[in-house]
Amino acid sequence: MTNQAFSDRDLAVLWHPCTQMKDHATFPIIPIKKGQGVWLEDFEGNHYLDAISSWWVNLFGHANPIINSALKDQLDTLEHVIFAGFTHESAVRLAEKLIEITPDGLSRCFYADNGSSAVEVALKMSFHYWRNKGQAKKIKFITLENSYHGETLGALAVGNVPLYKETYAPLLMDVITVPGPDCYYREPGESWADYSIRRFALMEQTLQQHAESVSAVIIEPLVQCAGNMRMYDPVYLKLLRTACNKYNVHLIADEIAVGFGRTGTLFACEQAKIKPDFMCLSKGLTGGYLALSAVLTTNEVYQAFYDNYQKLTAFLHSHSYTGNALACRAGVATIGIFQEQNIIEKNTKLSKVMGKAAARFIDHPHVAEVRQTGMILAIEMVKNKHTREPYPWQERRGLRVYQYALSKGVLLRPLGNVIYFMPPYIVTEDQLLLIAEVAWQGIQQAVKD
Ligand code: PMP
Repeated sequence: MTNQAFSDRDLAVLWHPCTQMKDHATFPIIPIKKGQGVWLEDFEGNHYLDAISSWWVNLFGHANPIINSALKDQLDTLEHVIFAGFTHESAVRLAEKLIEITPDGLSRCFYADNGSSAVEVALKMSFHYWRNKGQAKKIKFITLENSYHGETLGALAVGNVPLYKETYAPLLMDVITVPGPDCYYREPGESWADYSIRRFALMEQTLQQHAESVSAVIIEPLVQCAGNMRMYDPVYLKLLRTACNKYNVHLIADEIAVGFGRTGTLFACEQAKIKPDFMCLSKGLTGGYLALSAVLTTNEVYQAFYDNYQKLTAFLHSHSYTGNALACRAGVATIGIFQEQNIIEKNTKLSKVMGKAAARFIDHPHVAEVRQTGMILAIEMVKNKHTREPYPWQERRGLRVYQYALSKGVLLRPLGNVIYFMPPYIVTEDQLLLIAEVAWQGIQQAVKD
């Protein structure tokens, strides 16, 4: 079957995520037949290097032999079982491992089945904790400007990317939004740390003013990924942890995108040496294989729900696929790879190569900034380098880079006019050079006329 024939079948029946489907009247959708390592292969044998890890989920390549073999074994043992009143080995093993590798003090694991639902769980648990503690006034959430936490209504409400949020505003709960530490806006010569500290004053003020009615602050540690890969210094997290303690407010760390090594450490919170009250994990949790998420929390939170049934303090949230056995097994195998193969150490080297490969973009006349945190590197394409005036979004310049890159066999789906590299950790140095070269040529094409 040709790409075209398969695409026609798709477009006759499917509705794709985050897509204006009319675009596909002009831009072909790419049918993938097979994945192997960093490569995806279409129905006509064309290959695409998955430089964005299939929406940031894939860590160790497609068809990874270790995860494949674990899943095959799991498939012959148990595919799924109701997770209320029942349990199974892979769910317990994964929870044990997660508690072992996340910051000390996170000692309880609650499963959900995607990132957005993990965020919903954390918000509800935090609110419910205060209620169980007799503090029913603590009902609000503080979030940062330019943050992203998912697409379900609660997660969308605590996010702040207008493109996704504005349409649904009438449906969303009210939240308190604080100007963020996004270091793209620092003064010339100002360090990330200084800017992050300066911006924290606004968070401190907000906490001081609203603490009595606030349940939690929710934050993406170090990188606001969907918000154009904007970055800030760990010191902000450190200050935030201290302030949350001072004002008696929970801290929810949404590590759904940045967790599992993306920022250079296994979890981004480690760089600030902090322990959040809730840590949301998904995406890389299963190595990019299956939909699963987890919310890690403290014994303090857990105990606030633990009582006689008649007290009605239990957390009655559930999803049908909670603790899915296949997904949990993929998670166990994924963490095993981290533990057995020195991945974090190897990534330090890879991230340096990635930084070097992208160094020349800094001087490009249409690049305002090249920023990097660990294994995430972003290139901000602008109309005017000096004033940083962006290209009008209607021109869709980033899309031109995307299309050019696809024609050269690299999958580089941008965020607006931000081109970023977030490859699987099995990427080679040569492949990083290829990604950078294709991005460079793509930007050259995109800034023409
Ligand atoms: N939080 C963050 C920080 C994310 O990046 C995402 C997904 N891009 C989500 C939450 C939502 O996860 P999901 O798409 O699995 O619902």
